[in-house]
Amino acid sequence: MNMKKLSPRVFVSEQITTTDIGIASAQGIKTIINNRPDNEAQGQPKTADLAAAAAKLGMAFIDLPVVAGKVTDEHIEQFENMYGELQAPVLMFCRTGTRSASLWALEEARTLDVDAVLAAAAEAGYNLSAMRSRLVSRSATAAPSARDPAQQDVSGDRHDVVIVGGGTAGLATASSMLKRKPDLDILVIEPRETHYYQPGWTLVGAGIFDRKQTSRTMASVMPKGVKWKHAAVAGFKPENNSVILEDGERIEYRVLVAAPGLKLDWDAVEGLGDTLGKSGVTSNYLFDMAPYTWDLVQELNEGRAVFTQPPMPIKCAGAPQKAMYLSCDHWLTKGKLKDITIDFRNAGGVLFGVADYVPALSKYVDKYGINLCLNENLVAVDGPARKAWFDRTDGEGNTSRIEVEFDMLHVCPLQTAPDFIRQSPLANDAGWVDVSAETLQHSKFGNIFGVGDVCSAPNAKTAAAVRKQAPVVAENAIKVLSGNAPHAVYDGYGSCPLTVERGKIVLAEFGYGGKHLPSFPQWLINSYEPSRLAWLLKEKMLPGIYWNLLLKGKEWLVDTELLPQVPVSREHKEAVDS
Ligand SMILES: Cc1cc2nc3c(=O)[nH]c(=O)nc-3n(C[C@H](O)[C@H](O)[C@H](O)COP(=O)(O)OP(=O)(O)OC[C@H]3O[C@@H](n4cnc5c(N)ncnc54)[C@H](O)[C@@H]3O)c2cc1C
Repeated sequence: MNMKKLSPRVFVSEQITTTDIGIASAQGIKTIINNRPDNEAQGQPKTADLAAAAAKLGMAFIDLPVVAGKVTDEHIEQFENMYGELQAPVLMFCRTGTRSASLWALEEARTLDVDAVLAAAAEAGYNLSAMRSRLVSRSATAAPSARDPAQQDVSGDRHDVVIVGGGTAGLATASSMLKRKPDLDILVIEPRETHYYQPGWTLVGAGIFDRKQTSRTMASVMPKGVKWKHAAVAGFKPENNSVILEDGERIEYRVLVAAPGLKLDWDAVEGLGDTLGKSGVTSNYLFDMAPYTWDLVQELNEGRAVFTQPPMPIKCAGAPQKAMYLSCDHWLTKGKLKDITIDFRNAGGVLFGVADYVPALSKYVDKYGINLCLNENLVAVDGPARKAWFDRTDGEGNTSRIEVEFDMLHVCPLQTAPDFIRQSPLANDAGWVDVSAETLQHSKFGNIFGVGDVCSAPNAKTAAAVRKQAPVVAENAIKVLSGNAPHAVYDGYGSCPLTVERGKIVLAEFGYGGKHLPSFPQWLINSYEPSRLAWLLKEKMLPGIYWNLLLKGKEWLVDTELLPQVPVSREHKEAVDS
C-alpha cells in the first residue's frame, strides 16, 4: 500500500488488502472509504472482507462504490453529506486512487481554490487537470446537477496513437511502431505499476522459476519515446476519436490500439473466489497463486488431484494441461504417482484443439494414468469441504451435475473480454474487439486496431501470437496515419509450448485452421514429439526474448507478409497526417 496525503484529514491509495488495513490502523487512520465496486478485476479483495478487517480494528468502513469513469453528481452529493461527519484521518481507495482523489477534489472545490486542490492532488501523484472545468463549476455553484461526467467537455490531450493497455501486446506494438517511425507521438494508458511475463507462471507452479523472475516495474519496460498515462480507460467514443478515463478525462487519438487483454472470470464458478488460494484450490493463472500450486504439489502424497479447463477461448489453451503434466512428473519422480488419482476435467470435447498434437499428448495422459473427462465444466467449489461440482454434457446434449471430491484442485477460470470492452461500440456479439482476422483493423472504425488477447481474431491467445501481431498492427496503423489502406497481413500464428515433463516440451506452433507453422526446421525441433531443445528454449531463452526483444520491437523470427497492392486512400480523415 502506498498512502498519499491529499490534505491533513484525507489520504488516498490504490486498492488495499486486509493486511493493509492493519498498517493503516497503525498509521492512525480512523475511517476507510472504498470507492471501488466489487468484482472489477481478478484477485480483487472483497469489500465484505475489508469491512470485517476494519471492524476488528475498531475503524469505520464506508462503501461508496464508483464505476470507473462515472463519478456522478449523486456520488459527490453522498460524499458531501458524510464529509463533515467523518472521523479523521480518512483513507480513500479505488483501483489506482484516481476515483477517490477525484471525489475528494470535487468536494473540496466547493470551498477551496481550484488551483490549490489541483496542486494537492498533483503532489499526491494524481493529475486531475482534465477535471478543471468541472471543479470550477463546482466552486461556482454547490447545487448538484444531473450531468454524466463522461459527457462533459473536459479538456483532453490529443495523440497520434493511443494504446489502451501496457501488457505484452500494448508494449510490443508501441515498440514496433517506434521502430518504423521513431518520432511518432504514442500514449500508452496502463493502470498497473507492474508488468508480468505470464508464460513464466507455468514454471513458477512447478517450482522451476521464482515468481520474481516473472515481473518487472511498468516504468522499466515502458518503451523509450512513449508517454505513459498511469490511468485506466473506462469507455470509448469512436465517433469523437476519444477514450474516456476513470476520472472522466477525455483523450483524443488519430489511431487507437486496443490491447487491454482479457478478464479472468473467477465469479463464474460459485464459491471459487472465496476459496482460491486456500483449502487446496489454486491456479497458475495468477501471479500470487502460482507459488501455491507448487506448495500443494509438494505436499500431496495421496488422494485426488483435479485439473480443470473451461470452455474456449482461454489464453494459452495448453496452460491447464501444462500444470497437470509437470505436477504428475514431480509425483512420478518422488514415487507418489501410484497413490494419487489425477483427473483432467475439460469442458471441451478434445484433449487439444489442434489434432496433430493429440497423439504426443495422449502418450503422456497414458503414462501418468490421467482420467480424461471431456465435456465437464466446473460450476461450483466448496473448498473447506474439498468438493467441486461439474456440469457433464452427454452425446445427446443432456446435462447432469456431478460431485467430485478433491485433495488438490487446479482451476483455469472462464475468460471473457473485459467489461469496459464488452459494453463498448468496439465489441462484436461475443464481446471481443471486432477486427479483421488478417489486418487486425476494426471492422467498423478504420482508425482502430485490436491486438493481443482482446481481439476477435480466431488465433490461439498467446504472447507468441503477439510476436507476429504487433508488427502487423504497427505497419497497418502507420499506413492509416498516412492516409493509406492497411497492407500487412497476420497469418494467425500462435504457439503453445506444452511442458509434458520436466525437461521436455511438445512445441505446438500453428496458424489459422491449425496450419502447421514451425519456427525451426523439423530436424532441430520435431513439433510432434517431446523435445529437450524446446524445453531449453522455454526455460533459458524465451524469458530473455520476451523482455529484450519482443517488448523492445526487435522482431525476432518475424517475416511480416505485406500485400503487393497499391495502397488506396482511406476516408477516415481524422487519422491522416496533415
Ligand atoms: C498461466 C499462463 C501461461 C501462459 N503461457 C504462455 C506460453 O507458454 N506462451 C505464450 O505465448 N503465451 C502464454 N500465455 C499467454 C500470454 O501471457 C498472453 O496471451 C499475453 O500476455 C497477452 O497479452 P495482452 O497484452 O493481450 O494482455 P496482457 O499481457 O494481460 O496485458 C493487458 C494489459 O492491459 C491493462 N488493462 C486492463 N484494463 C485496462 C484499462 N481499463 N485501461 C488500460 N489498461 C488496461 C492491464 O493492466 C494489462 O497490463 C500464458 C498465460 C498464462 C496466464
